[in-house]
This record gives sequence, C-alpha cells and structure tokens, in this order.
Amino acid sequence: MIELQGITKNFGSLQVLKGIDLRINEGEIVSIVGPSGAGKTTLLQIMGTLDKPDSGTVLFDGVNINKYKEKALSAFRNKHIGFVFQFHQLLPEFTAVENVLIPAYIAGKSRKESRSEALEILKFMGLEDRATHKPNELSGGEKQRVAVARALINHPNIILADEPSGSLDSHNKEELHQLFFELRKQFGQTFVIVTHDEKLAKITDRTLHMVDGLMIDNPEAKLELETEANNNTKVDILQEDTTIQSSEESQSNAI
Ligand code: ADP
Ligand code: MG
Repeated sequence: MIELQGITKNFGSLQVLKGIDLRINEGEIVSIVGPSGAGKTTLLQIMGTLDKPDSGTVLFDGVNINKYKEKALSAFRNKHIGFVFQFHQLLPEFTAVENVLIPAYIAGKSRKESRSEALEILKFMGLEDRATHKPNELSGGEKQRVAVARALINHPNIILADEPSGSLDSHNKEELHQLFFELRKQFGQTFVIVTHDEKLAKITDRTLHMVDGLMIDNPEAKLELETEANNNTKVDILQEDTTIQSSEESQSNAI
C-alpha cells in the first residue's frame, strides 16, 4: 500500500534520514521503535506527505505522490491518511463531535452528514455521551480516542500515529492499543505506530527498529546494537522518550 524507496532527509548539515526503504501492506499494524532523534517523526511526516524527502520516492498504491502540487496533496492527505499525535491536537473551542467531523466537512460532505458520521464513530468508541463535551472536559484517554475518531472519519487507507499513547497512564494506554486492534478487526484499518511502548511493539505484526536515520533490520547490525547496549552505551532502542514534538504547523496541516 505504501512504499518508501531510498528516502533521505537533511536539516541543514544534519542527516536525519539516510536512506529508508520500507513497505506497509494493507491491514498491517506496524510499529516503529528507536531512540529519540533517530528520525521517526521525520519519517512519519514524510510517509504522511506532510514533509518532502530530499531524495527517494513515496508510493501510495504504486502512485508517486511527488507529482502532486500542494493543494492536490492536501486533498490526497485528507482522503487517504489519518494522523494521531502524542498530544491530541484537538481544537479547544470545539466539541468532541465537531473536532471529529472537521476532516469530513473539509472533504466536502455536508455538515449534517459529517456530524452523523462523527457521532457514529464516537458511538463505536463508547464516547457518545461525551460528544458535546469540549476537550478540556475530557480525560486524557478520551481525548486520544476522539483524536483517533477524527483520524478515522474519512476512512483513510492508513493511520499514522506518532507516540499516540506517550502521554497516557497505563490503563488508558492499554485501552488505546486495544482500540487499534479492534479497528483493524472491524474495518481492516492499517496502522503505522511510532512508540516507546515495548508491550505494544511486541503485539504489532512487525516492529521496525530505527537508529540514527536508518532501519536496522539485519541481524548483524542488531547484534552490534545489543552488544553496545550491553556495554552500557547510550544505545537503547526502547529508551524513554525525550522527543522533541513535531512542529505545530505540520500537525495542523494534518487535520
Ligand atoms: P525522533 O522522532 O526519532 O525523536 P525526529 O524525526 O523528531 O526524531 O528528529 C530527528 C532529528 O532531526 C533530531 O536531531 C531533530 O532535532 C532534527 N529535526 C527534526 N525536525 C527538524 C527541523 N524541522 N529542523 C531542524 N532539525 C530537525
Ligand atoms: Mg518523534
């Protein structure tokens, strides 16, 4: 469904992605793990068309998205890609259902139709009695589920989640992770999830390990990494997050 070929990205003299190849199949739940600064967020943003690579290709169902100009790309993103961030990024002035319906409304559906679809999704998530609450009246777990509902409303081909449970306590974390699997079961939803949660990574179909702008997928490199970790160097692919949040600007473009 999504294929990345030879993706590189630099910020000034900093080489953040050094040649990433990967392929995500329909219906898969794939996790990406790696230390802070490895380039996970940058990769997700490129996969989600929020940022452009310096070189390499992003293919959606075989179509090279480089050919799209900004406006067409926004429309493509709105229709095909859902985003969930570590911090919900809900609009504070709007209720839960309004936050969820916005992408459908942007896609050209009527207000009424968008609202009824948004309510349906909230209901599926057991949030129907929270629909008219504003974000500050919702718990952290509820806010993240509303953010997932917003990501889902246009039936995207893929949901890209950047540490979606990073700010939740263990109970809410567990509930959110279960929701991902439930959505896959019910709708065949595809997910790529950047996470520091070892338990989640373990139950996903595949875990991609990212270190220093590269995917570490050959056993030799992994062994080297483990040896380094055993030697108490700083390399710890599942270390706690001190990640810099991705820019507000690109996050708002996602919605
Ligand atoms: P991760 O999500 O794995 O923690 P990021 O993709 O956020 O990593 O960042 C990788 C590296 O790129 C970090 O060193 C970060 O400081 C740098 N970086 C990310 N975004 C920018 C940007 N817009 N401008 C400059 N440097 C950036
Ligand atoms: Mg990050």
